[in-house]
Amino acid sequence: MTSDVIELEDLPGVGPAAAEKLREGRFLSIEAIATESPAKISDATGIGIGSCTKIVAEARKIAEIGEFITGDELEKRRGEVEKLTTGSNGLNELLGGGIETQSITEFYGEFGSGKTQIIHQLLVTVQLPIEEGGLNGHGVLIDTENTFRPERIKSMAEGYGLDPVEVLSKIHVGRAYNSDQQMLMVDKALELAEKYPVKLLGIDSLTSAFRAEFLGRGTLAERQQKIRSHMRDLDKFMEGTNAATVVTNQVHSNPQAMFGDPTKPVGGHIVGHTSKFRIYLRKGKAGTRVCRLKDSPHLPESEAVISVLEEGIRD
Ligand code: ATP
Ligand code: MG
Repeated sequence: MTSDVIELEDLPGVGPAAAEKLREGRFLSIEAIATESPAKISDATGIGIGSCTKIVAEARKIAEIGEFITGDELEKRRGEVEKLTTGSNGLNELLGGGIETQSITEFYGEFGSGKTQIIHQLLVTVQLPIEEGGLNGHGVLIDTENTFRPERIKSMAEGYGLDPVEVLSKIHVGRAYNSDQQMLMVDKALELAEKYPVKLLGIDSLTSAFRAEFLGRGTLAERQQKIRSHMRDLDKFMEGTNAATVVTNQVHSNPQAMFGDPTKPVGGHIVGHTSKFRIYLRKGKAGTRVCRLKDSPHLPESEAVISVLEEGIRD
């Protein structure tokens, strides 16, 4: 993407002061500006609406937003999609062959349902050779809940006969203490992808920071707006890399709820529309986990049962 190397200051009409205001308003890249409305940018930065209209138009030119792409080009991009094994044939099948690159896959479920275990597993399997269902790549994890455990990675690496220390050296973990940091780490992940063959970006958890920071109805719209922008950044991350993005999400936990679905994922339709694969996890018999594929555009809604073992996820 051409705009990777272009600074905000390179936009006609943006001097150092305006660039500063844009960054303070969290418009950090040309794409972020190009995909926003001038009014919104003006509100967030205090820059006049006239200037913002001009800045957005210039950003759109550079970011090539609104360009059409031909069907054969699209088909070629689809042809580049690769599949990553989860360690369970049943779960792979449920997903149409494995976790897809260029898409967001979301695992949601209550506490202890195995979301974090699956993320650990994928950080290992992404390193396997292609013949073994891996992508021969590195993994990046944005850890918002401090649940990354190197010991788990080691056990899972040994489960595949891999050198645990080498496997750990190909996993890049960033702790995010709040939603702003979480969002910035996606830009960092893109930088990492220039240095290493990053094939997986995991976010565990996608929504917990947003949920904690935006409590109550009054701030719901603002929260959804931010999640939307975060999801957009994830899409951009995948445009620049042929990597898979896997996120975890919790369910609304309100056992007293008389109405509504108690198993609804957080983030509502914004997360739902951007995640191409949504898998609902629930605890099954004898330590198993039931995975249910929800609203996929081209796969039937069906289930797979997995086991979480010391050596990782298996059938
Ligand atoms: P939360 O919403 O709290 O983040 P989660 O869905 O991420 O929950 P996990 O942490 O992935 O849940 O799952 C924890 C469960 O994984 C444990 O209860 C246990 O059943 C299983 N587990 C964890 N470590 C091991 C292990 N070494 N061997 C076997 N099973 C394990
Ligand atoms: Mg977890």
